[in-house]
Amino acid sequence: MAELVAAVPSLLAADQADQHYADAVQTAVAACAADTAGQTCYICMDGNDEEGLVRGCACRGALGVAHVSCLARQAQVVAERTFVRWHTCGLCEQRYHGVVYCALGWACWKTYMGRPEADRVRMNAMTALGHGLFEADRPEEALTVQEAELSMLRRLGVVEERILTTLNNLAATYGNLGRYEEALSMRRDVYSGLLKFNGEEHEKTLLAATNYAGSLLFLKRFEEARSLMRKTIPVARRVLGESHELTLKMRGNYAQVLCRDPSATLDDLREAVTTLEDAERTARRVLGGEHPTTKDIEANLQHARAAALHAREDGTSASNPFADALLYLNQVKAEFGDEPEIYNEFLEIMKSFTSQQIDTPGVIRRVSTLFEGYGKLIYGFNTFLPEGYKIELPEHLREQLEAPARPAPAAAQSRGLHAKIGDLLVPLVPARSLRKEQ
Ligand SMILES: [Zn+2]
Ligand SMILES: [Zn+2]
Repeated sequence: MAELVAAVPSLLAADQADQHYADAVQTAVAACAADTAGQTCYICMDGNDEEGLVRGCACRGALGVAHVSCLARQAQVVAERTFVRWHTCGLCEQRYHGVVYCALGWACWKTYMGRPEADRVRMNAMTALGHGLFEADRPEEALTVQEAELSMLRRLGVVEERILTTLNNLAATYGNLGRYEEALSMRRDVYSGLLKFNGEEHEKTLLAATNYAGSLLFLKRFEEARSLMRKTIPVARRVLGESHELTLKMRGNYAQVLCRDPSATLDDLREAVTTLEDAERTARRVLGGEHPTTKDIEANLQHARAAALHAREDGTSASNPFADALLYLNQVKAEFGDEPEIYNEFLEIMKSFTSQQIDTPGVIRRVSTLFEGYGKLIYGFNTFLPEGYKIELPEHLREQLEAPARPAPAAAQSRGLHAKIGDLLVPLVPARSLRKEQ
């Protein structure tokens, strides 16, 4: 294979690393600005200086705010013994996520890139960078790094298990790039490989099972997804515990399988709602309300409640109401891609409606006001209304119904259905569990 030749992609060129690191820190600091305002770094105790502060774990209140450079220094000190501080916060013991993880990924790569290729810490640094880029929604760059990593590992002839971990991460990136069939077959291989190497109780095997199920779900192979998850979730609950992030994600995904299957019954939808309510409570307690996993579970809970309500009012079993709800939510995202507060307010309204804090005329009023001027969205809301209620559009908005769908702006698309795929993935790159000694 051509890529086995040791060509360094320009993204990984040594003279570029400082710039990539500086850019990634700047992005992370900007994204965390509201969360870190008026705080100080818990490591050096300084306030908001030139570098700026970040927080991207499950720490809350005044905890966990730091400089990326301080987090990196802390990770470096113990790196020969354990790689854990490059990806997991020492205070809350939860993984870093999003752009903060990406900045740390660049810090990590910058620190170890000068070492020999076969150096274990350098290999892990490459994994961390690939995962960081994935986390920061930069799948093309993640792909570059992960493919380079894979060809390096093959060239070095490392154990198959290590390669499976890289394939697992690569599959997640394929998924985010829309290469679903490739992602699915890669994930099947990773799962069966890890099952053989580590057995069904190992965290990495459970992770691989979850990712494989996510791919099946995305490709609408509901039966297979359901049976795989029924087999693996009880193992996760027993071995990892109820409050482990992976257990929470697995349960969240299982609820999605229940909701999306067109043959889902009302009982399935109710089971999905109960599962998500329970997972949401635990996620809030363990990970905090700002954590992406908590937010995913919350959003899925809103969808599931809407679907259950819709099915009940319909008096039928679900005719895939979840898909309708999802489609609608994606339209909202597409229209208001650069105004997330509108999308969030819509979710709030749905929450009040499904928990019956506001009645049907009330929800019609609020939705019509929120989406004022957007005929399609207002009319589309009819899908959530019980029998006997229908929103009729005023004359001047009716022509919008005939107009072809407005193409979603690129930003909205990446956060729409596409982002949904990311939610199904568990892009955990267990650099930690790569190491046998841990
Ligand atoms: Zn500091
Ligand atoms: Zn933390």
